[in-house]
Amino acid sequence: IVRYENVYKSFGDVEVLKGINLDIMPSEKVAVIGPSGSGKTTIIRMLMTLEQPTSGSIIVDGDNLWHMEKNGELVPANEKHLREVRGNIGMVFQHFNLFPHMTILENCMTAPIHVQKEDKQEAKNRSIEMLEKVGLGDKLDNYPNQLSGGQKQRVAMARALVMRPKIMLFDEVTSALDPELVGEVLEVIRDIAKEGEMAMVLVTHEMEFALDIADRVLFLDNGVIAEEGPPSEVIENPTNERLQTFLHRFR
Ligand code: ATP
Repeated sequence: IVRYENVYKSFGDVEVLKGINLDIMPSEKVAVIGPSGSGKTTIIRMLMTLEQPTSGSIIVDGDNLWHMEKNGELVPANEKHLREVRGNIGMVFQHFNLFPHMTILENCMTAPIHVQKEDKQEAKNRSIEMLEKVGLGDKLDNYPNQLSGGQKQRVAMARALVMRPKIMLFDEVTSALDPELVGEVLEVIRDIAKEGEMAMVLVTHEMEFALDIADRVLFLDNGVIAEEGPPSEVIENPTNERLQTFLHRFR
């Protein structure tokens, strides 16, 4: 469903990604681990078209997101196409990015109504369904500042799910939470993963969690995928020395 071909990304003089090649299958669950600053967030932001690669291709559902000009510069494919791609991808961020002046139900309804031009009642029904799924059916009319961090993050998930994405991206969604709230958020992700059909890419520092739900783990280091494979190999029996050192911190 997603293919990265030889993707490079620099910010100014700093080359953050140095040739990423990656295929993600429909319904595959991929965990991305690696040291701070290794480019994990950048990889998924590029898929959401929030960052543009310096070179290479990112192909979603057979369509290239970027297009090479004659002068060698990459430019976005047409806006309509990018909007379609974004509509198929849901993203949950480390900081919840909820709209503070809207109730949590309104937070969930706004994109289907304004972006997908969906019928208001239908958007509302599905938003309620998704908020129930994440365990917040009794908080529909609350505002974000009335919720705990874990609850806010579950709203952010419901809001992404309402769009019925084919791919969900999770960017360190538990790292801004108090430790006692991490479990409830992971539990919801686990439930969504078990349902199966969506592809998921999870940037995470929760190794046990990656071990539990990922089909494949990527270890990103120095701008390349330094090791990849099933979690039983990458996390439990790593061969790469830098990966061993990295994992040691989580023991
Ligand atoms: P962490 O685990 O700390 O979140 P990460 O692996 O997700 O790290 P990225 O956030 O992808 O890493 O960042 C990779 C590098 O790119 C970092 O050195 C960061 O400072 C740099 N970087 C990211 N975004 C920008 C930007 N918009 N402008 C300049 N530099 C950036």
